[in-house]
Amino acid sequence: MKIFFYNTLTKTKEEFKPLEGNEVRIYTCGPTVYKDATIGNMKSYIFMDTLRRTLKYNGYTLKHAMNITDVGHLVSDGDEGEDKMEKAAKEEKKTPLEIAKYYTDKFFEDFDRLNIERPEIICKATDHIKDMEKFVQKLLDNGFAYETSTAIYFDVSKLDNYGLLSGIDLRNQKAGARVEIDEEKRNPYDFALWIKAPENHIMKWESPWGLCYPGWHIECSTMSNKYLGDVFDIHTGGIDLVPTHHENEIAQSKGCTGKIPARFWMHCEFLLIDGGKMSKSLGNVYLVQDLIERGYEPLAFKMMCFTSQYRNKLNFTWDALEASQNALNRLREGYKKHNEGNEKIDENTINEYKTKFLEAINDDLNMPVAMSVVWDIVKNPNKSKQLAELLLDFDRVLGVDIQKENKEKELELPKEIKELIEQRNQARANKDWALSDNIRDELKEKGYIVKDTKEGTTVEKL
Ligand code: AMP
Ligand code: ZN
Repeated sequence: MKIFFYNTLTKTKEEFKPLEGNEVRIYTCGPTVYKDATIGNMKSYIFMDTLRRTLKYNGYTLKHAMNITDVGHLVSDGDEGEDKMEKAAKEEKKTPLEIAKYYTDKFFEDFDRLNIERPEIICKATDHIKDMEKFVQKLLDNGFAYETSTAIYFDVSKLDNYGLLSGIDLRNQKAGARVEIDEEKRNPYDFALWIKAPENHIMKWESPWGLCYPGWHIECSTMSNKYLGDVFDIHTGGIDLVPTHHENEIAQSKGCTGKIPARFWMHCEFLLIDGGKMSKSLGNVYLVQDLIERGYEPLAFKMMCFTSQYRNKLNFTWDALEASQNALNRLREGYKKHNEGNEKIDENTINEYKTKFLEAINDDLNMPVAMSVVWDIVKNPNKSKQLAELLLDFDRVLGVDIQKENKEKELELPKEIKELIEQRNQARANKDWALSDNIRDELKEKGYIVKDTKEGTTVEKL
């Protein structure tokens, strides 16, 4: 069956076929490992996972590379500000390497919790410094780059058209409107490929242009080219990467090989929290761990992502997560009931379900429609092992572990809360009621209600 994906490059849904044989070559922009990945980040990787699984379900093999950005991503996403890794290292009094290792491990822990398949190739930026240096040299040799006192810059005016993905028109852009004015830069949109390290910079490497560190964009161009070739099938990332990062990747690859590096560019829309942005100041930056601590399965969040197509914004609320957890439980119950049934279902019905499901996932990963087929099967009153098998087959795409036994919702309490409860129990044992009440109030402030019953103390999330 034909597959259609929306291509950000052409702004249309196009038929997808691999460029060569049966293998699909994909590149995904991976995390910058200086802080915890949020459930927003995970929406993008759940999309990546569904893409992988859909292609495999269609019989393709994959060569998929994802980078780990452990150097060069500046606070602004552009050329201003400190390197995110160095900033975090200073704040946490660790080395950038320690920071990278810690957050990379945590990132993949979330992958496992969400049943997100790992790409075949995971490549760290700091393992590819020499490759990047060669890429920069090639851009200089080809006349697309120039050296200033602070960096090697890409000269966007040398391209026939910069802004292919986001459609920006450089003629309408004023200098300094988006980027700081640097007197040495030839054009305001020129971006740094290779940055000369200031005195106190920790991460720096010897290069023909002195002690330097790479820019964020050059990492992806270099590693995608190294592992997947000049032109590969699909490039993925979150929607925020379109206007700077991916635009610059295209520019670099065109300067080096003369080609746009990927045939399809696919982008995942953002996750919103209670209708707005996730932000530290609003205290709504949620991690997968937070979902677990409130008694939800990470896979309930994956189910929630299937309620909207990846190119749409998705609004996270705790009520919606509760509904998704219930849906996941119902799905597993549905599977179990079919598995215990003995009805015979005719092949036509099975094939009809199969076709509808495949049509939905092959239509730009339309998961809400695919899920409606899943629910039709669950609700089928004829309980049959054939339908259980079909659900299991669809779980190759969903990856929500439908064979798992449902558990009662358990509240996994944060360490700090457990300690407070312990202190309160101690106070009660000492008949220090004033202290016990104080701790109860403190717990309430932190969002936990304690109740003292005959059976003991119970804790509930507010
Ligand atoms: P970062 O680690 O910040 O480089 O981001 C990793 C990936 O997560 C990128 O593809 C981002 O575009 C994506 N991303 C960041 N925030 C969100 C969000 N709220 N919703 C969906 N994707 C996001
Ligand atoms: Zn990238």
